[in-house]
Amino acid sequence: MGSGGRISPLSLERGYARISSAMISPVFEIGAVRDVPGYGTLHLASRRGEPEKWFEFLDCLDPPHPREKKWVVMISSQFGCAVGCRFCDAGHHGYRGNLTVEELLGQVRYALSLHPELDPASVPKLKVHFARMGEPSLNRAVLRALEHLGRPGRLPGLIPSLSSVAPRCPQSRGFFDELIRVKDGLYGGGRFQLQFSVHSTDEEARASLIPVRKWGLAEIAEYGKRWFKPGDRLVTLNFALHDSAPFDPAVVERTFPQDRFLVKFTAVHTTQRAQEHSLTNVWYEAPSRVAGLGEDLRRRGYQVIINPSWPQEIESGLSCGQLASSVADASLAAVA
Ligand code: SF4
Repeated sequence: MGSGGRISPLSLERGYARISSAMISPVFEIGAVRDVPGYGTLHLASRRGEPEKWFEFLDCLDPPHPREKKWVVMISSQFGCAVGCRFCDAGHHGYRGNLTVEELLGQVRYALSLHPELDPASVPKLKVHFARMGEPSLNRAVLRALEHLGRPGRLPGLIPSLSSVAPRCPQSRGFFDELIRVKDGLYGGGRFQLQFSVHSTDEEARASLIPVRKWGLAEIAEYGKRWFKPGDRLVTLNFALHDSAPFDPAVVERTFPQDRFLVKFTAVHTTQRAQEHSLTNVWYEAPSRVAGLGEDLRRRGYQVIINPSWPQEIESGLSCGQLASSVADASLAAVA
């Protein structure tokens, strides 16, 4: 396979075995799969021999782009999540530790193995999102995985993307300091996407949605200014905005420079937690509030991305933690 140049050497390292079209990972077992034709496949996996340590990863498209042009892999960094945001199912069944470097890379290798007809090195945009279960800044193995993936000549189209709620703790601070060095060393020229999940411009509302100590808006802004080098992508401020979450464009303008940050609005999907807390806000076209806020921010000089839900994503329950939660709930119900 390697001699034909169709499969990246990345996928053939460290004892992986190819069985039919997919690989058996030496570090984790696949427990459940949710397949959405035309979009992607969500996998629920667990550490080999420790079935209570589960996590999810997703191999998918960014419709309408074909996989040859843009390939998206979303991976987890923790078993569950230590943060427990009120709209997310990832932390619903607790936190059971961090994934290792091999487990992080294993998710990428496994996803790449699912399409043997494609050479990952030939895909112009191969996005690896550290944005599934877990807060990546609480796991230093994420930095080592980024170093491994970014080795020169391997995957020229690779664009890692990392989403964080910016926890306030020494571990995250050290992580973010080192992340700047990794990005500058291996992913210059716009090959790294950093996103902060902010969700409201009001600190009290943020505190309620993201129930851990975290950087304030001004600290995120300060870090973004340190992060940015000429040619880098703008840092994304993501707002999964539920109907009553305060959002003040003037606060954004006072805090975040337009030449360092962009603003993205996303829906709040129908996870178990979001429904429990009445936070769900699914839309396929921007609701008038979001459209109006977007216009306001554009007039203030910001780049704005309005990111609607994709119907199949909602119908199939592909949001972060949903598959893990449904399988865990079914197991608990079976035991009861
Ligand atoms: S949104 Fe991210 S940080 Fe918050 S609970 Fe979900 S996985 Fe954890």
